[in-house]
Amino acid sequence: MAVFIFIVIHWYLSLFCQTFFHHRYSAHRMFTMSKGWERFFFFLSWLTQGSSYLSPYAYGILHRMHHAYADTDKDPHSPMYDSNLFTMMWRTKVIYSSIFHGTYPVEERFKNNLPEWFTFERFAEGWISRGFWMVLYVFIYTQIATSWWQYIFLPANFLMGPLHGAVINWFAHKYGKITFKTKDTSHNLLPVDVLMLGESYHNNHHRFPAKPNFGFKWFEIDPVYPFIRIFHALKIIKLKRVM
Ligand SMILES: [Zn+2]
Ligand SMILES: [Zn+2]
Repeated sequence: MAVFIFIVIHWYLSLFCQTFFHHRYSAHRMFTMSKGWERFFFFLSWLTQGSSYLSPYAYGILHRMHHAYADTDKDPHSPMYDSNLFTMMWRTKVIYSSIFHGTYPVEERFKNNLPEWFTFERFAEGWISRGFWMVLYVFIYTQIATSWWQYIFLPANFLMGPLHGAVINWFAHKYGKITFKTKDTSHNLLPVDVLMLGESYHNNHHRFPAKPNFGFKWFEIDPVYPFIRIFHALKIIKLKRVM
């Protein structure tokens, strides 16, 4: 039970940073924030994503490429061009890493206005940091696991960030409902999405990529949008358009 609670907490904290900071802020610039708050969320992303820390800079570029080339041969991840989930995720990882290390030929238009903190990122992306978090997760399991089989869930903690990416990039491009006709294969994976904090309304998002609330119909609750409104009211961020 304690292991389950640990995974659930890790799942939501890590996912919150990915959807709020990496996706809605870095890739889409739905709101702005000061350099100080930007660094706070860099640090929070490292704390919550731990061993699977994703660079908001590299993620932003990768995701802008996905929107620009969704489901074409230039899309960094698409079920149309990969035979299974694992080959898609591996290809995504290779492209992500080469963007991070500056060896991928990125179009200039994808590099504009991205959060940067390269000294911190080099540390957070490095193996000392990743190794530290992996050892910490193993230690936490030794303290809370009540049976040996519970250790089979450890890889979920190790790879939390890519796991969230896989759910949306594979399943939300294959299954669910299509509300809006788009040129890509995006679907609204879940009718009410508390599991992926609103990311499942992927068809809505592909149709309206600048809209900070991913929900469209009355029942499509986006659990992150109230946080965005509160952060806006507290002047932590500034929404480009309040709706
Ligand atoms: Zn997509
Ligand atoms: Zn997006």
